Amino acid sequence: MRLEMTTLWPYGRGMRLFDFPRRRYTPHATPLEPARRLSAHLGGPDIWFKRDDLLGLAGGGNKTRKLEFLVADALAHGADTLITVGAVQSNHCRLTAAAAAAEGLKCRLILEERVPNSYRPGASGNNLLFHLLGVEAIDVVPAGTDLAARMEQEAAAVAALGRKAYVLPGGGSNARGALGYAACAQELMQQAFELGVRLDQFVCASGSAGTHAGLVAGLAALDARLPVTGVSVRRPRGEQEPNVHKLAVECATLLGAAAPAREAVVVEDGYVGAGYSLPTDEMIEAVRMVASLEGVLLDPVYTGKAMAGLIGLIRQGRFKKGETVVFLHTGGAPSLSAFADVFLA
Ligand SMILES: *Cc1c(COP(=O)(O)O)cnc(C)c1O
Repeated sequence: MRLEMTTLWPYGRGMRLFDFPRRRYTPHATPLEPARRLSAHLGGPDIWFKRDDLLGLAGGGNKTRKLEFLVADALAHGADTLITVGAVQSNHCRLTAAAAAAEGLKCRLILEERVPNSYRPGASGNNLLFHLLGVEAIDVVPAGTDLAARMEQEAAAVAALGRKAYVLPGGGSNARGALGYAACAQELMQQAFELGVRLDQFVCASGSAGTHAGLVAGLAALDARLPVTGVSVRRPRGEQEPNVHKLAVECATLLGAAAPAREAVVVEDGYVGAGYSLPTDEMIEAVRMVASLEGVLLDPVYTGKAMAGLIGLIRQGRFKKGETVVFLHTGGAPSLSAFADVFLA
């Protein structure tokens, strides 16, 4: 009888991260640190922060990890221009513009007005940074626009100038972008091992899904057995869970890893409020609580709602004393100044 190594290896099939070109925008692991005063205040589990708000490129945040793989692919294709899409205060657009600047590429943005009339040419926050980072063109389109078609049209306009565009999907969320969060899963498990911290639960914001999907794919490939709860910032669970699972399977396939189970994707959708980017009382409470107790800035659109979810789940007893919960801080604070009215009211 011939024994195949692959059938004996008990820890899944691993990940082939080395097979993909990658640029490095953060020269170190992001800190994994205890949020002691927040944990004591809530009286529930021990909360730790994975500080992806401290990733590289202007203002940091989760899109930096996805851009490491996406921009490397753009360069491998000989592109000189990055084109992407996002909301009017998009962190992804800010970081794509920053990566373009750092690589000597040009950048064009399509901004989707998800909330009607929300685009303000003179707005602060990320909008100001788009301009500082040297974005070549900004086009604002109404919600419901076929964004993929609009970006292809922009790519054709760039080609007509004798240049070459590379189109990044919204949030950098395709299988290649999600590799950034499969890599983060590996970084996190190594860090927890070195710190001697046993992790029981993982909580993150779930939006365009690349972060959530990459983590689920990476943790499954590592057989980490760390349950992930994604707090939706936009879509109902019935839409978001299948979206995340589909992308997690695509990411795992790209990695040569086993596909994660459908049950590995869990979305909590009770903290969206009236809609994407629209403030909720729970978000305001969460942003104020973490700022005043930990000296850490969350954001109104993503991490404020994700933290509201974590606080809510602790209050409901879903996460308990004695457990350790990691909260992924995906960044976003550069948009805070565009929401001053929400917090100073
Ligand atoms: C984009 C974003 C998220 C959500 O990540 P996805 O991969 O789009 O689901 C969370 N937090 C911040 C600050 C973001 O900018």
